[in-house]
Amino acid sequence: MCAVPARRVRPRLRGVAEGRPRLQTRESFCHSTILLMGQRSGRQEWRKKPEMSPSENVKAEEEGDKEENKELKTKDQRLPVVFGVADLKNGAVGLYNIGQTCCLNSLLQVFLMNIHFTRILRRITVPPYASLKRKNVPYQMLLLLEKMQSGKQKAVSPTELARCLSIHRVDLFMQHDAAQLFLTLWNLVKRQIKDQDLVTKLSDLYTICVQEHLACQICSSEMKRNSNMLTLPVPVLDSSSRMLKTLEDCLQCFFHPEELTGHNMCFCEYCEKKTPFLQSMKLVHLPQTLTIQLKRFCFERSTDVHKLSHCLPFPQELDFNAVLTEQQSQAHDSEKAAWQYELFAVVAHSGSTNSGHYCAYIRSLTECKWYCFNDSIVRQVSWDDVKSTYGHSDLNWGQTAYLLIYMKKHPQ
Ligand SMILES: [Zn+2]
Repeated sequence: MCAVPARRVRPRLRGVAEGRPRLQTRESFCHSTILLMGQRSGRQEWRKKPEMSPSENVKAEEEGDKEENKELKTKDQRLPVVFGVADLKNGAVGLYNIGQTCCLNSLLQVFLMNIHFTRILRRITVPPYASLKRKNVPYQMLLLLEKMQSGKQKAVSPTELARCLSIHRVDLFMQHDAAQLFLTLWNLVKRQIKDQDLVTKLSDLYTICVQEHLACQICSSEMKRNSNMLTLPVPVLDSSSRMLKTLEDCLQCFFHPEELTGHNMCFCEYCEKKTPFLQSMKLVHLPQTLTIQLKRFCFERSTDVHKLSHCLPFPQELDFNAVLTEQQSQAHDSEKAAWQYELFAVVAHSGSTNSGHYCAYIRSLTECKWYCFNDSIVRQVSWDDVKSTYGHSDLNWGQTAYLLIYMKKHPQ
């Protein structure tokens, strides 16, 4: 069982004056860690259990170093085995829950069912030493993929990958927020891939680019900057705290200009004082794999976490040109022509904020069938089953979509 930690739902990104979200320019992005935009880390722990014993890791490394020479000799022979796995050779395979890993399992399935991601994963350089292999997240993901697809089991255990993640301080015995853990995993994968061409491919596959405009309402001076994001964190309530009715409404709300007044005023260097600003976001680029986060978790009275479970339908096909106005995008026609998406996966959360569970609905890109991955149990489902994650105001314990992953219809 796994819960979503505290996360403040904010209707949109706020201004620089009020603890600006950590933004990065496109230039700086290439060499650094990508961040969720408009998010606070605010992880909260429930019923924390001890991590995997550190001595286990040390022992493993010592043994690994002895094996180095042997591993080096066999490296070349291992590559064809690791790289020769076809997607879904054995159908969809589950992952055993080995702690509170339903969140991790759901995200791993979303990564490994994405053939665009596994194409990159298969091309990574295999670390030369056993000790490095144990620490390398992309390599351990690749081994897990191989294990899932080469065996005959209905489910496999992600133990080695879990051990590898624990080396990188990812605690699997605590409640995780799927959006935060997705970011952590993605950053670890990106940081540990050595081949810069693959790093670029990985960034291109997932990175959203928006342009943020801030205009002083006194002197009309304007600031613009491009920012990269891994997920689009869309509000599910409008600025008056009314429930938004569809995903398209949420996207509209995200890109709707916002007046920054009162506490949200920004410092204008021309006026030399805090002034009201108009903040707006323009969409610059959308990636092949687009992750949208529905901000269903919010603070009430600053400490209580509240889940917004109301019904929020999302379409199987999404055309951003039909959702956004001309003013809400800053892209060439060729870029916009590719903004046609099909739903690929839904990471759904059920239960309350302090006792919940994650599972993933994923459409196999090779078979075009929907599956529900619920830890070790995998079953084929219908679109109506996927729609059960729309949510319902009266069913707070019911399943609600939390991450929506869309795939470009026509890869560029
Ligand atoms: Zn000004």
